[in-house]
Amino acid sequence: MSALPVVLWTLSLSVSDLTAHCPRCGRSRRFTFADAARLNAHRKRLDAWLLYDCEVCGGTHKVELFARTPVRSVDPALLALLHGSDGTLLRPLAAATVGGQGWAVTGDVPDREAEVRFAVAQGVRARLDAVLARGLGCARSQVVAWSPDVAGCTKVRDGLRVRLQPPEVSTRI
Ligand SMILES: [Zn+2]
Repeated sequence: MSALPVVLWTLSLSVSDLTAHCPRCGRSRRFTFADAARLNAHRKRLDAWLLYDCEVCGGTHKVELFARTPVRSVDPALLALLHGSDGTLLRPLAAATVGGQGWAVTGDVPDREAEVRFAVAQGVRARLDAVLARGLGCARSQVVAWSPDVAGCTKVRDGLRVRLQPPEVSTRI
């Protein structure tokens, strides 16, 4: 019995763009979340921002999370999150602060039979057939050709595995 190759698909929380004045462009621009945060310390008080990038010039726009807050009154878990500046972990915070718009999926489309394993970020809720359709770049109705055992209402959860087979392989003789 030979094991199938494993392909990892990652589902992350999408964070809404925002519109703000860009000092470098000198006009209103769209900014996208930079997957980063900044912390500043003034004696025993902290400022924290989420960082957004101007889509045109890459200039930074800061969204304030808190200002001049005593270190002791900042939730230690939040502080660790801001220190770590891990974009995947910051996304739920940005989605809650600025707004989120669903999810994004990244991963390779297998060119032969393979097992897709899902890594699902905290806060993502998505149907399996919708995720497969977006990841494979096909219509939701065509997903069944890739994976006969996909049940329509299954939710994607972290660690879920699905067997995929490119449709042309199964019809080619
Ligand atoms: Zn700009």
